[in-house]
Amino acid sequence: MIPTHSIKYQQYQALLNLLPEHHHEYPQIMEQFRMIDVGETSEDNLEFFLGQANVSSLTFIKRLRVEQHIPFQIDWIVLAPGFRVLFEVKGHNGEIYFDAKANQLTRVREGTTESFTDPILQVDRQYANLRTFFIEQQIELLPTYRFAVFVNPKVILKLYDYPDYERVITGQSVPFILEKLAKKHPTNLTETNNQSLSQFLIEHHCERLSPILERYHILWEDLKKGIPCPQCQRRPMIRERMRWQCLACGTRSTDAHYPILYALALLMQNRLTTILVQHFLHLESLEATRKLIKRAGYIKFGVRKAVYYSHPDLLIITKSKSGHKTIESGHKVSKSGHKRT
Ligand SMILES: [Zn+2]
Repeated sequence: MIPTHSIKYQQYQALLNLLPEHHHEYPQIMEQFRMIDVGETSEDNLEFFLGQANVSSLTFIKRLRVEQHIPFQIDWIVLAPGFRVLFEVKGHNGEIYFDAKANQLTRVREGTTESFTDPILQVDRQYANLRTFFIEQQIELLPTYRFAVFVNPKVILKLYDYPDYERVITGQSVPFILEKLAKKHPTNLTETNNQSLSQFLIEHHCERLSPILERYHILWEDLKKGIPCPQCQRRPMIRERMRWQCLACGTRSTDAHYPILYALALLMQNRLTTILVQHFLHLESLEATRKLIKRAGYIKFGVRKAVYYSHPDLLIITKSKSGHKTIESGHKVSKSGHKRT
């Protein structure tokens, strides 16, 4: 399972929702979140160009991350029955110069100069790791092309004497490149084998839940408590007869606690404790809290005082091996709070 937004993105978003704006770390966290957001939006934007390629039986995987010896992430991987392509996506605007000797990329924008690592080196490194993984898993190797693709239409690429200039491209050229490669490479795998490989890679997708609160030295006491009203966003909603009630606008909800539980799971490395949830949701008893967490589909691990609850989707994405499963709830949930059917 690969989530629509990376776990890192979701963690920053959850933290910003719970951290008061006057907190001294808020601006740094917001700045970091904006950078992650720009990166992921740029990656998302490539989808349009990939979809324009007039080639049948192509499979695209976005933001695949594999942990095998060295963890590596690929912005986009294209699987075709006769070839493969890796894309490292950049969303920069302004004038971009490539310095072949220093293996650096320099951006000049509004009078300031910034430097970045060479994206061709990045994508070649990812390929080296992917290749090792394929060999270990006995997956057939096919001709694999690597490109750095700039998706911002406002970018001006200055390649001059950059030897790998053919591998530095804009989003618009992606469909033509894929069509050319499809003509050049006859089909080696069957379409079914290609689909199975795609499935295999998605099953191996693995992300980390980093201790984001520790990173910014944020205490639980710093965060906003209580459930915000889904209608007017005011806190806290009051628990009344198994429902949440907003005292400000009168909105009632049965599942307004789902997003908060998911946010807490993101911030606690997917280990919810009843005491913390009770405190956050202003619930009257530990027993009521326990029931609420279990009904929300979280999976129980551990015994007695070491009990904690995990969101099933986060267990899959992080390939968590921690803990011993003791009780499994009957419900499946999504982070938005709606039970899946
Ligand atoms: Zn309200």
